[in-house]
Order: sequence, then C-alpha cells, then structure tokens
Amino acid sequence: MSAAIIDGKAFAARVRAQVAGHVARLAAGGLVPGLAVVLVGDDPASAVYVRNKGIQTKEAGMASFEHRLPAETSEAELLGLIAALNADPAVHGILVQLPLPKHLDPDLVINAIDPAKDVDGFHISNVGLLGTGQKAMVPCTPLGCLMLLRDRHGSLAGMEAVVIGRSNIVGKPMAQLLLGDSCTVTIAHSRTRNLPEVCRRADILVAAVGRPEMVKGDWIRPGATVIDVGINRVPGEGGTSRIVGDVDFASAAAVAGAITPVPGGVGPMTIACLLANTLTACCRANGLPEPEGLTP
Ligand code: NDP
Repeated sequence: MSAAIIDGKAFAARVRAQVAGHVARLAAGGLVPGLAVVLVGDDPASAVYVRNKGIQTKEAGMASFEHRLPAETSEAELLGLIAALNADPAVHGILVQLPLPKHLDPDLVINAIDPAKDVDGFHISNVGLLGTGQKAMVPCTPLGCLMLLRDRHGSLAGMEAVVIGRSNIVGKPMAQLLLGDSCTVTIAHSRTRNLPEVCRRADILVAAVGRPEMVKGDWIRPGATVIDVGINRVPGEGGTSRIVGDVDFASAAAVAGAITPVPGGVGPMTIACLLANTLTACCRANGLPEPEGLTP
C-alpha cells in the first residue's frame, strides 16, 4: 500500500472541537445554538442516525430537540411541526431525517423548512444559492469531503475532479463545491460510457454510488486523491456483516496518493458538518461573524 490514509475520524473530531469552542463562547453570552431533528416512522437505520446526531449535538454544547413522529403522521401534521420550528427562536437548524414514509412528499417537506435553518442544505433556495456561487447552507457530506480535500491539497484550482454519482444530496452538490474551488469537474453516473477511463483522468476522484467496492485500483490515476463516500453493508465472516465503501480499498490504496477509508473516512465528517452548519446558521441568524473554515 502506498496511499496516505485520510483520517476522517480524527479530522471530524477537530471540527467538532472547533464547533464546541465557538458554542461555548456564544453560550457564555447567553446564546445557545439549537438543532431540531425530526424523525417520522421507525426505520431502524434512521433511528440510529438520529440518536447519534442528538448525542453529538449535546456534546458540542448545543441544544438538541428531537421530534419522533409515528409513521402514519399526516402531511399537514408534519408541515405544522416544521412551521412551529421555523418560528422558534431557540431552533437555528432543522433536519428532517430522510427517507420519509411513502405517503409524504420529501420535496414538499424539505421546501417547507426556513432556508436559513436548512442545515442539510437540501432546500431549493440553498441548492440555487450554491449553484450560483452565493452564500448557502451546504449539504453536510459534500462539505465534509471538501474540507478533507482542502486540508490535503490547500488550493484545488485547476485539478481534474471526477464525481461518480449525481444524487441531489451528494453527487451534484459535491460537483458544485469542486467547481467553486476551480476544479475541472466531470460528473459520472450509471449511463456514463467507459467509466474506468473517465476515472483515470481524475486528480480527485469522489465515489458516491452505493455499489460495494465498484471502483478498482486500475481505474485510478497514480497519485490521485480518492474520496469514498459509499456506505455499503455486505456479508462478513460467520454470518456477520461489515461496512465497505464504493472503492475497492486494497487495490485503490496501492495506486492512489491518498484515500479515505470506510469506515473512518467521510462518514464521521457528515455529522461534524451538521454541527458546523448549525453553528453557522445560529451566527447568521444573530448577525455574528461566522467561524472560519467551517463553510465553503
Ligand atoms: P443515490 O442512490 O441517490 O445515487 C447513486 C448515484 O450513483 C446515482 O447518480 C447513480 O446514477 C450512480 N450509479 C449507480 N450505479 C452506477 C454505476 N454502476 N456506475 C456509475 N454510476 C452509478 O445514492 P447517494 O448519493 O444518496 O449515496 C451514495 C452512497 O453514499 C451510498 O453508499 C450512501 O450510503 C453513501 N452516503 C454516505 C454518506 C456519508 O455520510 N458518508 C451520506 C450520504 C450517502 P444514476 O443517477 O444514473 O442512477
């Protein structure tokens, strides 16, 4: 193995510590940033995410408001809760955990959140602001990837970046952020021809596909930086299961210059950036200077 391992776990701990330091200073002046997380239904994976978010929010010194609603919650009830959270001055960030039960329209629900409190960065206004290079709330996972890349490379200007995946939550905002940092960006997807060849031109390769170990070492340009966003559960030994990324780590690490592991790479950055976004939202809402290094 030749690649440097990008330690997202350690980096995320530093981001969380930075956030906690700012929160402590705000709290000393009587301002406590607050994050409301709304979970509808009983999807077990979502319940774990929401619990972890609550724990880390409190650890950062912020107020955590959890709203767990039954799966049969109506659209009107959910929109009513969002309206109340929009109006609540103690709430600076609102996150509705996805996926929602089938009878609820996620676009309608997300677009009901006050864009200034949309710490997931999924509201159409924030998507538009990011796309036009204006100050936005930025989706947490791509923001975390950008932080890791800037930490490794400093300036990304002029680099060839290939993003595999064009979802609204990872692929597209990732591409926008890389473009904002003056990379030459290619977005690949399931209809892309000659994907290995496209990937081989990347100085920066971001895989956000959801297919276990799809990206092989011979798809990677020697020395490239590989950011593996994928979280895939696959069968392990003796009836257990394990988590792997979208990149075949062993073969990729033999070629890449640097690579994020799974677990311990991008994953921990996502919640750290959620906390960062909540702090940013709180500062903006109160006309305070934004902490440095936590926004694009
Ligand atoms: P989506 O399923 O929404 O999007 C997957 C994308 O990959 C689509 O654009 C799809 O193309 C593309 N794709 C699928 N198959 C292929 C293929 N064979 N070749 C090329 N492209 C392909 O997934 P998400 O963006 O939501 O998530 C991607 C991965 O990242 C998942 O493993 C998810 O668990 C993980 N994730 C991790 C997070 C973290 O915190 N680390 C946070 C969010 C997601 P098309 O559009 O043509 O269908």
